[in-house]
Amino acid sequence: LFVAFEGGDGAGKSTQARLLAESLRAAGHDVLLTREPGGTEIGEKLRALVLEHGHGEVDPRTEALIFAAARAAHVAQAIRPALARGAVVITDRYIGSSVVYQGVGRSLGAEDVERLNTWATEGLWPDLTVLLDVEESEGRARRTAGEAAEDRLESEPDAFHRQVRTAFTALAQARPESHLVLDAARDPQSLAAEILAAVERALAE
Ligand code: C5P
Repeated sequence: LFVAFEGGDGAGKSTQARLLAESLRAAGHDVLLTREPGGTEIGEKLRALVLEHGHGEVDPRTEALIFAAARAAHVAQAIRPALARGAVVITDRYIGSSVVYQGVGRSLGAEDVERLNTWATEGLWPDLTVLLDVEESEGRARRTAGEAAEDRLESEPDAFHRQVRTAFTALAQARPESHLVLDAARDPQSLAAEILAAVERALAE
């Protein structure tokens, strides 16, 4: 089973991904907990490359290709092998983040970025995507509180984060059967319980 967490910066994706991995491991599942950009040695180098340059220093197409290259490595070297041995794969961000940040945020076009990533991953889409929907001001408060210290989009205006939120919501609405949309402002333990229940249902199918 392949589970992705998506949502704006400061939504609590990393926390929920970790809590889900802990619960599933406690129940005896083989779990790969991973993140994007990153997840492989090449991917972590590409992550560092993009993150060390602020917004505007890397041109949008270069950025989209770097993220897609990191994702291709991630899928080929980490995600597909783990799925093949029967593990539950949990990733903190996936194609949705590129469609939203590079496609919509950087105006490359959601469809082109989706096509690029479909190619890069040979069409591997998550069975379940958990969208942690975060309101702009709440995300800002959490980011500045240090939850995402390397967040390079921190200085973007609220309008950017509002656009990101709308774009994530649109993706979830386009594939409602594979999305669970939750209010990121809720209590983390109650969110974790609802996510675990959805994953257990998907595992039983
Ligand atoms: O999720 P995380 O905070 O680790 O992401 C690192 C940074 O990269 C964030 O600022 C995130 O918004 C950005 N990002 C991006 N495009 C992606 C994935 C992440 O701009 N496709």
